[in-house]
Amino acid sequence: MKHCVVIGGGVVGLTTAWALLQRGHAVTLVEQATDVAQGASRANGGQLSYRYVSPLADAGVPLKALRWLLDPDGPLRFKPEFDRAQWSWLAAFLRNCRGPVNRRATERLLALGAYSQAAFARLQQQAQLGEAVALRAPGKLVVYRQPAEFARVAARAQGGAEQALSHDDCVALEPALADTEATLAGGIFTPGEAVADCHAFCRQLHERLAAHEHFRGRLGARVDSFLMDRAGAVFGVRTPAGDVTADAVVLAAGLHSRALAATVGVRLPLYPLKGYSLTAPIGPGHRAPEVSVTDFEKKILYARIGSDLRVAAMVDLVGDDASLDAGRLASLQRSVRATFPHAADYDRATPWAGLRPATPSGAPILGASGVAGLWLNVGHGALGFTFSFATADIVAALVSGHASPLPLDGLAL
Ligand SMILES: Cc1cc2nc3c(=O)[nH]c(=O)nc-3n(C[C@H](O)[C@H](O)[C@H](O)COP(=O)(O)OP(=O)(O)OC[C@H]3O[C@@H](n4cnc5c(N)ncnc54)[C@H](O)[C@@H]3O)c2cc1C
Repeated sequence: MKHCVVIGGGVVGLTTAWALLQRGHAVTLVEQATDVAQGASRANGGQLSYRYVSPLADAGVPLKALRWLLDPDGPLRFKPEFDRAQWSWLAAFLRNCRGPVNRRATERLLALGAYSQAAFARLQQQAQLGEAVALRAPGKLVVYRQPAEFARVAARAQGGAEQALSHDDCVALEPALADTEATLAGGIFTPGEAVADCHAFCRQLHERLAAHEHFRGRLGARVDSFLMDRAGAVFGVRTPAGDVTADAVVLAAGLHSRALAATVGVRLPLYPLKGYSLTAPIGPGHRAPEVSVTDFEKKILYARIGSDLRVAAMVDLVGDDASLDAGRLASLQRSVRATFPHAADYDRATPWAGLRPATPSGAPILGASGVAGLWLNVGHGALGFTFSFATADIVAALVSGHASPLPLDGLAL
């Protein structure tokens, strides 16, 4: 049995702690906030998108990005900064937009998604998650407004796993789409894709962890630096409330992993992709979508989570700033009301903004950091809830001295 410190009480840190306990280790989880899931895991889109992984870096994206930037209601914002990290991230992102690179990244993420679905099923069985997690598997419908774009993806639809649907078929599958102002070109439906409340999941998992005899949670404790021995190996963490020594330290601090890793000379190519969500109550007279819907061109996700409609959207490259921008929220309200006008009470929607800890390729960074004793589970970007179950399992295997259950090509630093 090793004693492991996990830094970060988001979905990635919590699932990592769980996977390490399952492998027989003792775990101390250190989280700077006084509760879990206060960062990117708080009010995300809730989609467990195992088979629709679509990395942002794609062949058509640089051109589309120019159009999006000119559209006041577009899904993208860019604020240039005097920050080398922003420009080097962007340069690497553009390299990842090349067709063959994107195809390899997509294959990798599909494998990770499939593994994560199985890992989540195991976790559910072990942890016996309750109804508060609001887990459903209604399938995912990605709708397209541009006929040319739809024709391109429909030609690639795999049949069985992915079904190409006409506008009328989309409305038959999801009647709430009948209220949509725009005429849709069609949609791709993937049965079996799930949605859940990430925040509720984190809280429940934390309760299960807290009941484990080999778990210790230290909330409200910020890790300032690592403890290093003379040979340059990490053997614990330093917090204002005292040091915690460990045989292994797993960095799972989302975006903030970048600054912490830098203190021991590890450069992580992470950049915040800011997104917004609205959580709007669904009343008896509303017609909310049952299927989880992604509006491809607008880059807006819709998921019913319990008695609320969760809408998540936007990719803003504006630095490390999670404040709520009134203009962006008004723009999101306009788009949502035009797409699902009768789905929920948007006047009572709770707005939220979060920073996706993104790598240029969209793939997380797992395993060895290059510094002995320090392990990485970072950079989950737009699909951290989806991938967390797989990446926790992989990192726990590596920390235990076993081989990774999936090839780490493209997933390591
Ligand atoms: C708008 C939006 C919509 C999204 N929709 C989806 C979706 O539908 N499906 C999906 O799969 N993913 C989605 N995501 C992505 C997903 O939310 C993230 O990838 C995921 O939450 C990242 O989890 P994390 O644990 O790495 O980071 P976080 O949740 O940010 O957790 C990191 C934790 O580390 C703590 N921490 C940081 N520094 C320190 C320190 N020095 N000491 C101690 N603790 C520290 C923080 O306080 C925080 O709690 C979305 C994200 C956004 C923003």
